Amino acid sequence: MSSLVFSPELNVDLHCHSTVSDGVLVPAAVAQRAHAQGVDVWALTDHDEVSGIVAAREAATDLGMDYVTGLEISVTWANKTIHIVGLNIDETNPDLMAGLVKTRSGRQRRAEDMAADLARVGIPNCYAGALKYVGNPDLISRSHFARYLVEIGVCEDVSAVFKKYLADGKPGFVPHRWATLTEAVGWIRGAGGVAVVAHPGRYDLTPLAFDAFFNQFKNLGGKAIEVVTGSHTVDQYDEYAKIANHYGFMASRGSDFHAPDENLPDLGQLPVLAKDLTPVWRSWMK
Ligand code: AMP
Ligand code: MN
Ligand code: MN
Ligand code: MN
Repeated sequence: MSSLVFSPELNVDLHCHSTVSDGVLVPAAVAQRAHAQGVDVWALTDHDEVSGIVAAREAATDLGMDYVTGLEISVTWANKTIHIVGLNIDETNPDLMAGLVKTRSGRQRRAEDMAADLARVGIPNCYAGALKYVGNPDLISRSHFARYLVEIGVCEDVSAVFKKYLADGKPGFVPHRWATLTEAVGWIRGAGGVAVVAHPGRYDLTPLAFDAFFNQFKNLGGKAIEVVTGSHTVDQYDEYAKIANHYGFMASRGSDFHAPDENLPDLGQLPVLAKDLTPVWRSWMK
């Protein structure tokens, strides 16, 4: 729970990853890095996992950094993968925990299928290769494959791997069914948290589909969207600020930091939110 008083000057970073999902630093090391980069209010938001939260909270508290419990849930909506961040949750909520177990459960099989597909295009042994980068056996992700493909020199960096092999429609992409939007927002709200659409600028949806998506998210009790995120271009900060105000969503800010050398900005380094937005942390911070 927050001990800080709200101020527009606070450096808030509410989106990043540790080895509990597809980041490369353990939760305490992410906390240390956030603190070193000047973050005042911090959430670790591992994919479909809450098992890093205890260590993250303890490290943040030791550093005197304000800690917010968080996660990022993988959702399938209209056959597209959408990420929903949950903030200020009770991570011990039984329905949330059971939902996450279910959401994670297909990853192993999917990874085996990805490896088989990559072998078919001439890149063998990717399953064992990806596993070398996995910190949590329940959470094998495309990022772990990407790091292995960089290691063996197939591509220069992880972005290039996604572009060539792992994005939707590419040879190593295996379609997957994640949680529904109704489930993800329901689990987050049931655990007392706030549901936030992660990096909306990354989804390949038509304007009509986006409108349907935002309306449905709002009707389910979704409250916010990420506006300033490492996954947006500078132009998209303005675009999604307008969208937040149009739909009456609060706005969030987060680096989406995964690793020191992987293209996304470092923790706490993005611009602050525009003044005409309502920061999502206002919902729990006085
Ligand atoms: P998964 O949950 O296994 O589908 O993996 C999704 C993760 O892959 C995301 O959270 C990102 O960390 C990473 N990712 C997706 N697209 C890209 C991209 N174009 N460049 C770099 N990383 C990406
Ligand atoms: Mn990720
Ligand atoms: Mn994401
Ligand atoms: Mn993320």
